[in-house]
Amino acid sequence: MTEILRVENLKKSYDGFLAVNGVSFTVEQGELKALIGPNGAGKSTCFNMLMGQLKPTAGEVFLDGQKITRQKPREIWRKGVGRTFQITSTYQSMTVIENVQMALLSHHHRLFAIAPRAWKLYRDEALEFLRIVSMEDQADRSCSILAYGDLKRLELAIALAHRPRLLLMDEPTAGMAPTARVALMQLVADIVRTQGVSVLFTEHDMDVVFAHAHHIMVLNRGELIADGDATEVRNNPQVQEVYLGGGTLFKEAQDA
Ligand code: ADP
Ligand code: MG
Repeated sequence: MTEILRVENLKKSYDGFLAVNGVSFTVEQGELKALIGPNGAGKSTCFNMLMGQLKPTAGEVFLDGQKITRQKPREIWRKGVGRTFQITSTYQSMTVIENVQMALLSHHHRLFAIAPRAWKLYRDEALEFLRIVSMEDQADRSCSILAYGDLKRLELAIALAHRPRLLLMDEPTAGMAPTARVALMQLVADIVRTQGVSVLFTEHDMDVVFAHAHHIMVLNRGELIADGDATEVRNNPQVQEVYLGGGTLFKEAQDA
């Protein structure tokens, strides 16, 4: 397997408080990897450093072996690190397919083309991305009337339109009902398999994580305490301690 992301000894200090304290890991090409941990563990801080929103106090981040630490979010994004953005009110007023076309215009450096005729551009390509998330039949609906789960799928299509090699998703299923969570992660897993993109995501629902992630990392108080497959992580004594009585992490293991 080819390594796409390497993180070495990443640290973030807020006035001496180490929110992220020496985190090191890799993500392989075509891998679906989860970063889990209790609230306040440092997951979002980690993500924001990988995407360039936040400058690390120490440590390095490499994409395809090239250092991207402290580069601007836009530079990192241009190099193929994508993320899902929430569709804001401006974009709510557009149709589903127009949102994907906007992403394609930006991806192809054609934003200057915004004009009535721009909506003829990239329509077929946009439909392809809507097909991946099974939303082609909703192409011409207004975003403002979409169900929450459909909006999340559209956000995924928009992220994919930028053809990322690595997609970072911080709590992609937040606010979704359990069945919708499972469906969205199933879709992400299918995309990883068919499109060859790597995905690093955070998620609260342990059933979702253990059902879909190839590898799971556990962050606690800014430190990685586990990095392995589902069995290794479940059997890790430190992980068991952190999650003791804390929910569904060991439900399947106990049932088995
Ligand atoms: P998670 O995403 O795992 O819930 P975060 O990365 O959001 O955790 O937060 C990790 C820790 O860093 C928390 O204790 C949080 O209060 C602290 N933190 C996050 N952002 C800041 C900030 N801008 N200033 C000070 N402390 C922060
Ligand atoms: Mg968070």
